[in-house]
Amino acid sequence: MANLIFKYSAMNGGKTINILQTAYSYEDKGFKIVIIKSKKDTKGKDNIVARNGMMRKVDILLKENESLLTEKNYKLYYTAKVILVDEVELLSEKQIKELWYIAHLINIPVLCYGLKSNFKGEIFGEGVSKIFAIADIVEEIGSSSFCICGQKAIFNARKVNDKFTDTGPTIVIEDGTKENVEYVPLCSDCYLKYVKIHSNEAKTLAKLVDKVR
Ligand SMILES: [Zn+2]
Repeated sequence: MANLIFKYSAMNGGKTINILQTAYSYEDKGFKIVIIKSKKDTKGKDNIVARNGMMRKVDILLKENESLLTEKNYKLYYTAKVILVDEVELLSEKQIKELWYIAHLINIPVLCYGLKSNFKGEIFGEGVSKIFAIADIVEEIGSSSFCICGQKAIFNARKVNDKFTDTGPTIVIEDGTKENVEYVPLCSDCYLKYVKIHSNEAKTLAKLVDKVR
């Protein structure tokens, strides 16, 4: 039986390199693969691009409301040994459900790579909620990503013009805006220290801690 698998890590956790390596090892044995990414990921256009500069063209560049269950796509799935999805957090709930059908109706493994949380520290969106609910296997990518302090990163903090922020739209691609947006993987301690410390809830709690200390 094939599975729908969700592999997650914080940003810079080696997800795209992991996909490219997986793609290579299948193709090296002569198997066909299908790579999918959302059109919302404007970085690299119709390529997936790893931080080390490695890239490859996707087979399906999925539009926001586009269905994965089309005749044209089915033809691709039937010839492939595995389906690889990059930045799965950008897919809709419906598209995640379709991936589950593909895994179990066609009996082909569907490996999805992505983030579990956004820069606010919340579940990234409806697609991520859905994949947590229905994936056969959920696993953290082993190499994972590291915080600036050296601890394991959990959060994907956003910096705009060099300042941490936890407000703004959920999806802003690093090179997709005029503003200087970058993401910094942080551990919980550093996320509190650099991002959350100015929030009212953090200030109230800090006061309470000082009081009882
Ligand atoms: Zn840290």
